[in-house]
Amino acid sequence: EAKSAGRNTQRFFDPQMQAIVNARANLESDLRQAIHDGELQVYYQPVMNGSGSLVGAEALVRWRHPARGLVMPIEFIDLAEQTGLIVDLGNFVMRTACEQLALWAASPSTQALTMSVNVSPRQFHNQGFVDEVLGIVAQTGANPARLKLELTENLLLGDVNETVNRMRQLKERGVGFSLDDFGVGYSSLSYLKRLPLDQLKIDRSFVSDVLSDVSDAVIVRTILALAHSLELEVVAEGVENSEQVDFLVSNGCKRFQGFHFGRPVPIGEFERLHGFASFRPA
Ligand code: C2E
Ligand code: MG
Ligand code: MG
Ligand code: MG
Repeated sequence: EAKSAGRNTQRFFDPQMQAIVNARANLESDLRQAIHDGELQVYYQPVMNGSGSLVGAEALVRWRHPARGLVMPIEFIDLAEQTGLIVDLGNFVMRTACEQLALWAASPSTQALTMSVNVSPRQFHNQGFVDEVLGIVAQTGANPARLKLELTENLLLGDVNETVNRMRQLKERGVGFSLDDFGVGYSSLSYLKRLPLDQLKIDRSFVSDVLSDVSDAVIVRTILALAHSLELEVVAEGVENSEQVDFLVSNGCKRFQGFHFGRPVPIGEFERLHGFASFRPA
C-alpha cells in the first residue's frame, strides 16, 4: 500500500527500541518524583571485626515504590548517574546516614561506629560535592572522622589530580575514603599510592569463590598483602559463610561484610539485631 508505506518511512525506531526508550523515560520521571516524594529509604549492612563485633555500617539505598514494592539499586543507580539525579539521591543518602551517625555518637555503646556511604563518579565530580558533604556534616553534627566515602575505580577515568584535590579537601576535615569493589575495575596499582585512601574493599566476586577457586584465593591473599604494606585497612565484601571467614582471618583480614554477618536492613531492624537503640528526642 502506497499510503501506509509513506507513513512507515517516518518510523526511525523499531517497536522494541521504542519500548525501551519509553520505559527509561518513565523510570526517570518516576525516580525524579520518588526523590521528591520521599520514596527512597536507606538500609544498613553491618561491618564486623575479627571478634565478630559490630564496627560500623554501610548505607545502601532502596526505592520503596508504591506499585512495584522494594526496588534495588541495580535497577536505578545507573539511570540516576546518567541523568544527574544521582546528585539529589546521593545528598539524601548522605544526609540520612549522617543523621544516623550523629544519633549513634550520643551513646557510649555506639559512638565508635563508622558509617560508609557510596559515592558515584558523577556525584563526586559534581561542582558542589565537597561543600555539600561538609554542609551535611555540619548540619547533622556527624563526626567526619566516623564517615567513610566509598569510591569505585571508574571514578579514576576522570582527571586524577582533580580527584586527589577533592579527596584532600575532605580528608583535611577528617572524612575517610574507601576504594569499593577493588580488583574488578580499571585502575592501575599506581593509583593506590596517589590517592589518599584509608581502606580497600575486596570485591565480592573474589570472596565468594575463595575456597574453591585457587586463583581467587591467590588474588585475595595478594590484595591483603598489598593493602597491608600500603597501610590500608581491608574489608572483605560478600562473606557468606564461616569457612570464608577462617580463610580471610588466617590471611590477615580484619574487617568483614556479608550475609554471614547480616543483610542490609532498615534502621530499626539493624538496631534491634545488634542490641541497641538510638535515642531519638520525642
Ligand atoms: P556495593 O557498594 O558494593 O554494596 C554491596 C552490595 O553487595 C549491596 O548490594 C549488598 O546488599 C550486597 N551484598 C553484601 N553482602 C553480600 C553477600 O554476602 N552476598 C551477596 N550476594 N551480596 C551481598 P545492593 O544494596 O543491592 O547495592 C548494589 C550496589 O549499588 C552497591 O554496591 C553500590 O555500588 C550501589 N549503591 C547502593 N546504594 C547506593 C547509594 O546510596 N549511592 C550510590 N552511588 N550507589 C549505591
Ligand atoms: Mg559500597
Ligand atoms: Mg562493593
Ligand atoms: Mg559497587
